[in-house]
Amino acid sequence: MSEPAVPTGLDVEELLDGVLTAVGPVAPWLIVAAVCVIVLRFPMLGRGPGMVASRDPWRRFQGGPRRLVIYRAAGRCEGGLLWFWGRCSRAATEADHVYPHSRGGPTVPSNGQALCHRCNRAKAATRPAWWYIRGLERRRRAYFPAGSDVRVSASMSTGDRAMRLAAPDLRRGTRRR
Ligand SMILES: [Zn+2]
Repeated sequence: MSEPAVPTGLDVEELLDGVLTAVGPVAPWLIVAAVCVIVLRFPMLGRGPGMVASRDPWRRFQGGPRRLVIYRAAGRCEGGLLWFWGRCSRAATEADHVYPHSRGGPTVPSNGQALCHRCNRAKAATRPAWWYIRGLERRRRAYFPAGSDVRVSASMSTGDRAMRLAAPDLRRGTRRR
């Protein structure tokens, strides 16, 4: 086998120098953009499911938990306009997981939100960032019934567990394992 031909007139050092000269002026902006992306995607600490959270066998909101999620939003979609500002004016038709079920979010009211079909489709199964949670909780202070906790939490409380034991029939319709 013959040696691979080395292109003549190509100086690696010179090439690298050229790239650095070209990137140099925009490097600070690239760093700013990277920091912005990290900040915008950062989760809200202490609210989401743990790294090793197992999937809740209850796939969907049904019965009492579903009614509670819709009721405390007064039947109106909790989605934000412009991602976090304002509130969607459509009727709530779906009880959605704030932290997606597929990512370990449990099917409990503290992890639920009432959404219209369009807002639910737009959100899909994305893990919410800190500003999404903050925006939702801020909006909720204006319409949640007095005394209700506006905070989103992806952990199952003892009350949630007790409610499940009291309503085993709600297991119907959930996926068998
Ligand atoms: Zn909506």
